[in-house]
Amino acid sequence: MVVAPQHHVGIVKVLRGIIRYRHIFREKMVRQFQIIKDDPHPDAVFFTCIDSRMIPTRFTMTNVGDMLITRNAGNLIPHASSYDPNAITTEPAALELGCVINNIKDVIVCGHSDCKAIGILHGLRDPATVSLLDKQVSPLKAWLCRHAASSFRKFDKLKAAGFKEPLEFQSETPMRRFVAYIDPENKFEEVDKLSQVNVLQQVENIASYPFIKEGLVDGSIHIHAFWFDIYTGDLYYFSRQQKRFININEKNINKLIMEVG
Ligand SMILES: [Zn+2]
Repeated sequence: MVVAPQHHVGIVKVLRGIIRYRHIFREKMVRQFQIIKDDPHPDAVFFTCIDSRMIPTRFTMTNVGDMLITRNAGNLIPHASSYDPNAITTEPAALELGCVINNIKDVIVCGHSDCKAIGILHGLRDPATVSLLDKQVSPLKAWLCRHAASSFRKFDKLKAAGFKEPLEFQSETPMRRFVAYIDPENKFEEVDKLSQVNVLQQVENIASYPFIKEGLVDGSIHIHAFWFDIYTGDLYYFSRQQKRFININEKNINKLIMEVG
């Protein structure tokens, strides 16, 4: 057996994984491709973080043809007001491909605990004071300062009120708003509370795009906020009725389906 030098273990793991995939999954996957042929009808647009511990198709048990997935550091969807047709912006394009071209009705944004990108945002203290030089040398900081400052401002408000007062977010239309109690049982670290605020802020950001306005106004397009706790493997759903993230489990699944369906 050829032993790869230590610094190449990443690519070796990927290549060996491909061989295991060929033995275990390839045939099944090809059969799934044949069922949907060249006409897939995905049911959800799913935005989440690039974190290596996040495997959305596994924890939702979704499959070939089910979802359009966009991932970035911190699961951010830039607000429409920052859209520049001369700059490359993947997230709004994914939203258009999903909701306009594919006629998808459910948009999901999913954050998670121990998010390293959100940890950096939290460490910046105030994104408005980060220098241009800092942003020039760090694309990650520039991305967070530009597109997550709104999450940070909401978090600041929450913190100033001792994490007790609820926050208000805009939902599908500017007139519709929802209230959120963030981590009312005080189970999570500050960074995780910021991560939950950040997910809810993305609901507002997704709703800012004019090309989905009609669907949002007539109620045919829904935006959902999920949060994954990587330590317990639990998935949380933000319930607008209960004004908080609810641990999705066997006991409440039917109630949740009634609420969203
Ligand atoms: Zn993350």
